[in-house]
Amino acid sequence: MIDVEDLIALVRNYNPKTNADLIREAYAYGREMHEGQFRRSGEPYFTHPVAVAAILTEQSLDDATIITALLHDTIEDTRASYQEVARKFGEEIAELVDGVTKLTNLQLSSTETKQAENFRKLFMAMSKDLRVILVKLADRLHNMRTIKSMRPEKQLQKARETMDIYAPLAGRMGMQWMREELEDLSFRVINPEARNSIIRRFITLQRETGDVIHKITNDIRAELEREDIDADVFGRAKKPYSIWRKMEEKQQSFSRLSDIYGFRVITRSEMDCYRVLGVIHQRWRAVPTRFKDYISQPKSNGYRSIHTTVSGRDGKRVEVQIRTRQMHEVAESGVAAHWSYRDGVRAQNPFAVDPAKWLASLTERFENAEDHSEFLEHVKLEMYSDKVFTFTPKGEVVSLPKGATPLDYAYSIHTRIGDSCVGAKVDGIRVPLWTRLKNGQSVEILTAEGQRPQGTWLDIVVTGRAKAAIRKSLREEDRERFVKLGRELARVAFEHVGKKASEKALATAAKQMSLGSAEELLARLGSAELAASDVVRTVYPELVRESSAIDSKRAVLGLSEGESYNRAQCCQPVPGERIVGITYRGKGVVIHAIDCPSLEELETETNRWIDLQWHSGPHAPEYTVSLDITISNDTGVLGRICTLIGEQKANISDLRFEDRKPDFYRLIVDVDLRDVEHLHAVMLALEAESDVARVRRYRNLDRRP
Ligand code: MN
Repeated sequence: MIDVEDLIALVRNYNPKTNADLIREAYAYGREMHEGQFRRSGEPYFTHPVAVAAILTEQSLDDATIITALLHDTIEDTRASYQEVARKFGEEIAELVDGVTKLTNLQLSSTETKQAENFRKLFMAMSKDLRVILVKLADRLHNMRTIKSMRPEKQLQKARETMDIYAPLAGRMGMQWMREELEDLSFRVINPEARNSIIRRFITLQRETGDVIHKITNDIRAELEREDIDADVFGRAKKPYSIWRKMEEKQQSFSRLSDIYGFRVITRSEMDCYRVLGVIHQRWRAVPTRFKDYISQPKSNGYRSIHTTVSGRDGKRVEVQIRTRQMHEVAESGVAAHWSYRDGVRAQNPFAVDPAKWLASLTERFENAEDHSEFLEHVKLEMYSDKVFTFTPKGEVVSLPKGATPLDYAYSIHTRIGDSCVGAKVDGIRVPLWTRLKNGQSVEILTAEGQRPQGTWLDIVVTGRAKAAIRKSLREEDRERFVKLGRELARVAFEHVGKKASEKALATAAKQMSLGSAEELLARLGSAELAASDVVRTVYPELVRESSAIDSKRAVLGLSEGESYNRAQCCQPVPGERIVGITYRGKGVVIHAIDCPSLEELETETNRWIDLQWHSGPHAPEYTVSLDITISNDTGVLGRICTLIGEQKANISDLRFEDRKPDFYRLIVDVDLRDVEHLHAVMLALEAESDVARVRRYRNLDRRP
C-alpha cells in the first residue's frame, strides 16, 4: 500500500502548496474507518481508496479531489457520516464524497445498450460537481485493474457496465487514456479469446516485419531533424479492443487492417504542427479523406490535434497525430485539465476546455449566458437539470422532464398503466400522485381495473403524452354521456310526432345520414352536431311540417330596404327584447339588447345608433342563446337537462364543458329559441330541477363585434 508520505510526494510533484496535513488527516481517518475490512483479494480494504487517490494524482488534481478519493467509500461502507466528514474536512469534501456515494448506490442492473446513454445522463444529472465523476471513474478503473479476484459472473457484469457506461463517459470527459484502459480491461473479461488472438497476431507480425514502431519513429525523427524541427515522436500499437472494434466495424480480417499503429508528434508550437504535417506529407503519400485538422476546428471537449494517415514503403497505412504539449495534455485529461495543478497553481492551459462550454455542448443549452457565468464561478454542474431519471422496478431508466409525477411516469410506460393508475410507490413508500419525482428514485405504479382518469389529473401531469392520453380518455367518457343525452333528445323529438325512438328507427336514420351506427348518431345528437328534428324528418318526412313562423330575414323592423343585420354575440338578443342597431364599419348593422354593457363605449357615437324593433308575430326557433349552467356531477343529471330543454321544444345546438370539479360541472349549452318567453320557459324548467345549481345567460364581452 502506498503510504501517506508517498502519496503526498505524488501531489507535491505538481502542487507544492498542497495541504499535506489535511491529506494526512484524511488518510488516517479513512484507514481507521476501514479498519478490519478486506477486499476479496485479501488485502486491507483501505488499499483501494489510496490507489484511487494515486490514480487521480496522475491527473494533477486538486486536494479536494484527492481527499475525496481517500474517503469515497467511508459514508457508504463504514460508520462515518456526512456530518462527521463535513466537520473534519469541510462541506466541499463532504458533498463530493456524498456525490460519489450516490453514484455507487445506483443499481445499474440493466445495462442494455439503449439504456447506457440514459445511465450516463443519470450520472451527470446526479453529480453536481464533475469531480464526483472523476473520482468515480478512477474508482472503477482501480476495480477493473483488480477484477481478477472477483467471482466470474461478477467480473462479467462489472466489465459490461464498464464497457457500456464508464468507458464512454471517460471518453466524453475527454480522457482518452482512461477510456482506452477501461475498454481494454473490460474486453479482457468479456472476450478473452478475441483479445488473445489479436495479441498473438501482433507477435507474429513483429516477427515478420521487425520492430515497425521503432523503424517508423526513427524515420519520422530523421525527417524532422533534417528540417530542423524540435519535436518528440512516439509510436505505439493500438489497443487490442480498438483493433477489434475496427475489424467489427469494417468487417475486415486482421491482416487486411491497415492502421494498427499510431504515431504522435508533440511539437513546441502550433506553427510547428503545420510544418511537421508538411514534412510528413512530402515524405509519404497522404491517404485522401483521412486528413483532419482539429486545431483550426477543435472538438467540443477541447480536443485539438492534426490527424493524417499516410502509406509507407510496404503500403501499410499509419496514422499520425500532431499536436503541441498543451494540446496533448487536454487530449489526455480532457475536462479534468480544468482542475489540474502545475507548480502549485491551477494550470492555465489555454486549451483546457471551459467546463461550462463543454457542458453546454452536451446539453445543448448554450445560449443561456446566465448559466454560463454561474458555472464559471462555482465550477459546479447542473447537468440535464431539465430532466429527472427514474427507475422501473426492473431497474430500467425512465427519463422524464423535471417536475414529472408518478402519473407522468405511468403514462410514459403505457397508456393503459396511466389510465388505470390508483397509486404509486416511490422507493417502496406510498406517495400521493402529485409527488414530484427526483433523480435516481425507483417508481412502482399501482393499478386497478375499472379506474378511469380524473379531470383533476390534468393539473398534476407535466408531460404532453400524459395530458393527451387523459384528455382522450375524458373525451371518451364524454362520448358515453353524449350518447345518453342523444337518446333523451331523440326520445323527446320522436314523441313530438307521436312516434317512438326505437333502435330500428335510429338505425334507419343513421344509415340514411351515412353514419356508422345508431350509437354514432346518438353521440352526435347529444353533442349537438345534429338536430333532433332532422333525425325525425329523415325517418318520417311527412310528419314534420314546415313552420309558418316569421323567419329571421323579416324579423327586425326599422332597417332600410335591402339592409341585413346580425345579432351581437355579446348579448344574443332574442325577439321580444328591447334592441338597438349599431352600424359597424364593414359589418353592417349589428343588433344589441338595450342593456348590453358593450353599448357603454358607444354612447357618444349617436350617429351609429339605429332605432329597431322585433317583429311581433310568431318567430321561428332559430335564435341561439348560450346558457351557463352549473349542475351537480351525478349520473343522469345531464340527460335530465336535455330532456327538460327538449320538453320546451327547444333545440340544443352546442354543448361544452367549461369547468369540471369533482362535485360540479359547469357547462355552456347553446339553445335555439323563438323569443324571450321561450327563453324564460326553458330557464324556469331548468331552475326547477334540483340538481341544477345555477342557470343564467352566458354574456361575454369578449364576443362583442
Ligand atoms: Mn470504491
